[in-house]
Amino acid sequence: MDCIFCKIVEKEIETRILFENEHVVAFEDINPQAPTHLLIIPRKHIANLQEMTNEEQQQLLPEIFLSIRHLAEELNLEKGYRVVNNCKKHGGQTVDHLHFHLLGGRSMQWPPG
Ligand code: AMP
Ligand code: ZN
Repeated sequence: MDCIFCKIVEKEIETRILFENEHVVAFEDINPQAPTHLLIIPRKHIANLQEMTNEEQQQLLPEIFLSIRHLAEELNLEKGYRVVNNCKKHGGQTVDHLHFHLLGGRSMQWPPG
């Protein structure tokens, strides 16, 4: 399968990985939109939130959000941060491997575009 994030998981593409465990990999976004901009993904290829099975959801979403909390502490985001999931076309998803953006290091605006 020709998935760029699967290649990152397999270390076939260079990225700065900040955290990884059995279930999750977190790495720097190539086109950062904030001083801290990471992507947190499951190792397993799942296209988007809607494509997760109940079992995957129950196992992987807690792992993803635990890693986000861990990274926020490691990266001193005590002032706050934003977590974004762009789901499918109307959500603005461009890479079809489930990922959560972790953005921090500046004040965020609302509403999003
Ligand atoms: P989304 O628009 O939510 O699908 O976000 C995809 C994100 O993946 C974008 O923020 C891209 O900058 C990022 N991205 C694409 N290719 C790479 C790559 N090779 N390494 C790191 N981030 C990437
Ligand atoms: Zn993938």
